[in-house]
Amino acid sequence: MKEATQHNPIFQRTQDFGAAPTDVRETDHYQYEYVHDFVERWDDLIDWDGRAASEGSFFIDVLKRYGCQSVIDAATGTGFHSVQLLKAGFEVASIDGSPQMLAKAFENARQRGMILSTVHSDWRWLSRDVVGRYDAIICLGNSFTHIFNEHDRRRTLAEFYAMLKHEGILILDQRNYDALLDGKSAPNQTPGHKYYYCGANVTAEPEHVDEGLARFRYTFPGDEVFHLNMFPLRKAYVHDLMHQVGFQSVTTYGDFQSSYKESDPDFFIHVAEKS
Ligand code: SAM
Repeated sequence: MKEATQHNPIFQRTQDFGAAPTDVRETDHYQYEYVHDFVERWDDLIDWDGRAASEGSFFIDVLKRYGCQSVIDAATGTGFHSVQLLKAGFEVASIDGSPQMLAKAFENARQRGMILSTVHSDWRWLSRDVVGRYDAIICLGNSFTHIFNEHDRRRTLAEFYAMLKHEGILILDQRNYDALLDGKSAPNQTPGHKYYYCGANVTAEPEHVDEGLARFRYTFPGDEVFHLNMFPLRKAYVHDLMHQVGFQSVTTYGDFQSSYKESDPDFFIHVAEKS
């Protein structure tokens, strides 16, 4: 593991990818990417009001259609979806592997008059850290892409599966990496602002892409720059993995629509049914 990861991520304020950033391809590295200063900027990137307007009631409608009441927000981040779901009357467990993110989420919810039920846990050990079974798990905002090896992906999906009740659902989204890898997106594609990354004056652009790495650069006003190293998941591969761990059916939406041309959407949203 590279030098930066030898330090406790809680105390790091700035990112450090070392001398060869594109060599950093580790599942555990997310904790060193969501450093204090980036977490503080995250809400400028996602812009809660803009995101709420563009997502509409999509996730709430899906959860209601399946009769869900209890939900694990597996990638809570700064708490956007946990807060939306609490407001809509769902029972929510807010999980994240980054303590900085969870602290920010708790504070964001508190400012809106809500108390989040937070658990610091890595997905790979979710059933050790969280008790009970839930109607649904959401893993949103292109989070699953942080996992860099297949064993960890399988393990995560198996943990999600195990935490669901009999007819539970997993809702997991991802960028349309197929379009990016196959060069079908616009040059210097910025699958930004339309749906997920809504903040004005913030850019999110791929800096390096190969079959094993998508390194994104996030630029904020004042030329403050952060990066995320992610694994470019192909859609068919994610479907296969979901089926292999036991999910019976997987429906994929493109930018919230059920019909779309494969190369068009910025994001895919998978809804996987346990049975
Ligand atoms: N869902 C939020 C949103 O849409 O704004 C946050 C998305 S952010 C791209 C990814 C989140 O997943 C981060 O908060 C990160 O800490 C969390 N994460 C990444 N890998 C994880 C893992 N293995 N276990 C638990 N959380 C993880």
